[in-house]
Amino acid sequence: MHLNPYGDAAVRLAADLANRRPGTAGELADRCRAAGLVVDGPVRPSDLARVLALLDTWESVVDAADEHERAGRLNRMLAADAAHPRLTDHTGGWHLHYRDDHQSFAAVLSTLIAVGTAFHLVGRGMHRLGRCAVEECGTVFADTSRTGRRRYCSQRCANRDAVRRHRRRAGGSADGPPRA
Ligand SMILES: [Zn+2]
Ligand SMILES: [Zn+2]
Repeated sequence: MHLNPYGDAAVRLAADLANRRPGTAGELADRCRAAGLVVDGPVRPSDLARVLALLDTWESVVDAADEHERAGRLNRMLAADAAHPRLTDHTGGWHLHYRDDHQSFAAVLSTLIAVGTAFHLVGRGMHRLGRCAVEECGTVFADTSRTGRRRYCSQRCANRDAVRRHRRRAGGSADGPPRA
């Protein structure tokens, strides 16, 4: 996986892994492959443990109270995980790596998530990470929408909340879906 200028793929992968934590190293590898990451080295249980800790840290970036707190937390991830950028053509086309060569899988993924999230936030807006507005859902999302005003993890949750608000306005009646 290479980082596009907005970091979409990396930040979406982070949200997917944070929302549904992988249970085994094999599952972690499979889901990273499904997201387009080239997994060419071993993925060990020690990588899984490190990635799970990384996802906790990443969620604290999502849950930051404001932009400066978010930036500070992400800057700490970048300091821990990213190395100086360098040009490489190991896959045939020139691109940038933000890590040293011969890193563990967890280290590669940490860098990808930290740098990808940074590109996403500076490219699209510092507010574009959040949790679903349906309180009992709380699913994390990266807002890549055109307007940047996403509030729900899915259309299903948006509908659920619309029905709920309608019922509240209608006086709390619980008889089926809202009527026009
Ligand atoms: Zn590469
Ligand atoms: Zn939701």
